[in-house]
Amino acid sequence: MELTLYDTYERRLRPFTSLEPGRAGLYACGPTVYDYAHIGNLRTYLFGDTLRRVLQLNGFEARHVVNITDVGHLTSDADSGEDKMEKGSRRTGRSAWEIAAYYTQAFLRDLERLRILAPTVWTRATDHIPEQIDFIAGIERAGFTYRTSDGIYFDTARLERYGHLARLDIAGLRAGHRVDLGEKRAPTDFALWKFIGDATRQMEWDSPWGGGFPGWHIECSAMSTRYLGALFDIHVGGEDHVPVHHSNEIAQHEACHGHPPARYWLHGAFLRLQDSDKMSKSDGSFIRLDSLLARGFDPLAYRYLALTAHYRSKLVFSWTALEAAQTALGRLRRAYHQLPSGGTLDAAMRERMLAALNDDLNTPGALALAWEVLKSDLPGAVQKATLAWLDEALGLGLDTWRPEARAVPDAVLALIDARQRARAERRWADADALRAEIEAAGFAVRDTAAGPVAEPVPA
Ligand code: AMP
Ligand code: ZN
Repeated sequence: MELTLYDTYERRLRPFTSLEPGRAGLYACGPTVYDYAHIGNLRTYLFGDTLRRVLQLNGFEARHVVNITDVGHLTSDADSGEDKMEKGSRRTGRSAWEIAAYYTQAFLRDLERLRILAPTVWTRATDHIPEQIDFIAGIERAGFTYRTSDGIYFDTARLERYGHLARLDIAGLRAGHRVDLGEKRAPTDFALWKFIGDATRQMEWDSPWGGGFPGWHIECSAMSTRYLGALFDIHVGGEDHVPVHHSNEIAQHEACHGHPPARYWLHGAFLRLQDSDKMSKSDGSFIRLDSLLARGFDPLAYRYLALTAHYRSKLVFSWTALEAAQTALGRLRRAYHQLPSGGTLDAAMRERMLAALNDDLNTPGALALAWEVLKSDLPGAVQKATLAWLDEALGLGLDTWRPEARAVPDAVLALIDARQRARAERRWADADALRAEIEAAGFAVRDTAAGPVAEPVPA
């Protein structure tokens, strides 16, 4: 069955074929580690994880590369504003390097809690400065650069198809920006290398053009080429990357190689907050995964919530929606747990599930099928095997979940003893009344060969 994906570059659904049979190369733009990730960022990584899992279900071995942006970049896309890492450093009193290490760890912990599969390759921008310098030198040799007093810039006017990914209205952009360009020749031009001049910076490197640091976009070009080659299968990121970051990655690649780096470009829609149009890292008002945990939510409730929306649809976050997701996940887990093991999956249902997932990652459709399985008259063990198969794509960890072992309070143990005595003395009415009391306390009594045991009743 064919996997179909929506390619932003061509603006259409396309059947997926890989460059190499049975293998798929996937590059995802990773976080800038000057602060915690917010749950919007995490939605984008959940989307990348779903794509990877669906590729694997289709029999592809996925080579999944994710970068960590630990070089300081400027707070604005227009190569101006404050440096994000230096700003984080001032805020916390720690060095830019310490900040990067700290937030990288926090990010990895979030991914683990969400059961996002570890990428095949993690790659840090600061570990690949020579590759970035080489890439800029290649762009320079091809004649696509110019120098200003503050850096080496990419000359977007030299590239006929510049901005095709975003369908940018170049003429309109030029008309709108006549005044405040500074030394840039066009509003779409962007820095490849920035000089530091007399300023002091914690992160700076030598280069053929002078001391400084790389522009934001070059690291992805350099590292994707290093780990996936000059042409690979799929590039993913959030929708905000379409007009600037990915357009510029494509420009850099076109200058050096004559074609874009990837054959498919997939973008996840933003998570938004009710009453606000976006969740932004730079304005400091955002919800982290830890904020959900602090309110008693299971991190996977957030994963469930993300799966209820198609990755290309806007998802509005609310605590009520998260509550509903947690309730649904709890029901799904308990139902799965209570099913007997040892069955084989239902082929017809598997086909339908794969059809949903292969239809541009239709996770809401796949979730609906999970509930349909539970309502079906398929034997319990078949239901369980079929859900376990689907969960390879959903990543909810159904098979590892166990009901919380709740200690049986002394008062309940005393009631169990009393009931045992009543039964031994054949006082059946008393025994029944005691059972009712035990149940009212939230426990069920199960009589086993070794005597009665109390078990928490699932909520
Ligand atoms: P950043 O750390 O800002 O580079 O962002 C990391 C990833 O999160 C990028 O792929 C962004 O496109 C994505 N992203 C940023 N904000 C949101 C949001 N509100 N919803 C979904 N994805 C987002
Ligand atoms: Zn990138």
